[in-house]
Amino acid sequence: MDTQHQEGIDSEDRSAQLLALLTERRERLAARIRQALRERQEESQMRDAPGSHGWAAAPEGNISLAMVAQQQQQLQAIEVAIQRHKAGTYGRCAGCGDEIPLARLQALPFAQRCAACQEEWEEQQ
Ligand SMILES: [Zn+2]
Repeated sequence: MDTQHQEGIDSEDRSAQLLALLTERRERLAARIRQALRERQEESQMRDAPGSHGWAAAPEGNISLAMVAQQQQQLQAIEVAIQRHKAGTYGRCAGCGDEIPLARLQALPFAQRCAACQEEWEEQQ
């Protein structure tokens, strides 16, 4: 399972890659939130425009608001991860203390454990 330990990558390189990964996710998420908020605003402006007979809050509006809230939570989680990265604790397994493989963090940026420890942890839940 853990056969591809790249030896060529030193820890500084890994650290830079992790930070780039987190920063990129943060930018992408922030842009998506800005866009969603703008669309909502335009939507409500259209709704309030004279002539559009007091359209009650559309259910779609609520769904996208929930989505934005969810994205904002994710953004917060990324901020926390970046803080942890600065403190040097990001990307370490909470179970065994080993570095979590980069590929796993790329797929799951908020992974707290390596795959083996995660499996064990889930079995105990
Ligand atoms: Zn582990």
